[in-house]
Amino acid sequence: MCNTASSGSVGHAPGGGVGGSGDTGTVTEAPTTPAASAPRLAARDAVGQTPPWATRELPAETRAPGAVDRLAAVLREHPGTLVLTGAGMSTDSGIPDYRGRDGTRRVMPMQHGEFCASSENRQRYWARSFVGWQRFSRAEPNAGHHAVATLQDAGLLGAVVTQNVDGLHQAAGSRAVTELHGTLAEVVCLTCGDRSGREELQARMAAANPGFGARVRGEAPDGSRVSSQIRPDGDVVLPDDAVAGFRLPLCLGCGADTLKPDVVFFGGSVPRERVEACFALTDAAPALLVLGSSLAVMSGLRFVRHAARRGIPVMAVTRGPTRGDEHMTLRVDAPLAPTLERLVRHAAAA
Ligand SMILES: [Zn+2]
Repeated sequence: MCNTASSGSVGHAPGGGVGGSGDTGTVTEAPTTPAASAPRLAARDAVGQTPPWATRELPAETRAPGAVDRLAAVLREHPGTLVLTGAGMSTDSGIPDYRGRDGTRRVMPMQHGEFCASSENRQRYWARSFVGWQRFSRAEPNAGHHAVATLQDAGLLGAVVTQNVDGLHQAAGSRAVTELHGTLAEVVCLTCGDRSGREELQARMAAANPGFGARVRGEAPDGSRVSSQIRPDGDVVLPDDAVAGFRLPLCLGCGADTLKPDVVFFGGSVPRERVEACFALTDAAPALLVLGSSLAVMSGLRFVRHAARRGIPVMAVTRGPTRGDEHMTLRVDAPLAPTLERLVRHAAAA
């Protein structure tokens, strides 16, 4: 079921199958012919595990005020710089990162193979997502998203490739946004390929599960409020007994219970044509700027490596080390939104 009609992606590794922190395990890296592979998003690493790259010390100059001035100068010299953004971009909008600043995974997201494996797993996902959507769908772009759109308008930044599935770059007015890992706003049936909108599905789930949201609110196992347990892909923590009463939505096209948000879960595949489009953007870019990503996942890191191989400037603004720091020509270790706003002021003054 998982191997058919899922956004043109290829099959999955049942149960993930990679394990550990080996994010490269299922990814076929082919520098000379990048288009030849449809890379999978590596399986999750363990909660609480800190990858070795995440403990490196960043040099003090990455935190010096002059670092932002140097970044502004490079952008002026390379108008149309390609942007790659990650979860750090949306934390100011109330959508938390899966990882702490030290690169340690804090929560265990749904796996592609797990989602495909059983109706019970999909029931758990959709029950959580149904509750989480009420808050996730109300998240608004923050100052960082608006600054990226402004810097695009000013010509300093070009296309945006984002690993986020929240649609907030587009909501802020950014153009030419590629959602590398898909979008939560759309739903695809893994059996027949039918596509539909998430809002419409939310209404159907609400009709089939009257009172469910109110019943489960505040029942997180650690006693915290559900509203504080939202995750980057829009679901929340719910107790198993609450999930058991949730009526799983069925596909309106074929009746199967195999509806999936159109996002790439860990262990799933980024559609090949999307990867090819991002390599093409990297090939055409004068420089690459990473914002709010530790590049822990190969699906983003591969474009940083590709840009470095091309010899174009590769820069990053994010807190703490990234897995791609050895490829960077300029690193800024600073809060994202204020840094981007400083770049906007630089652009206005130029
Ligand atoms: Zn269907």
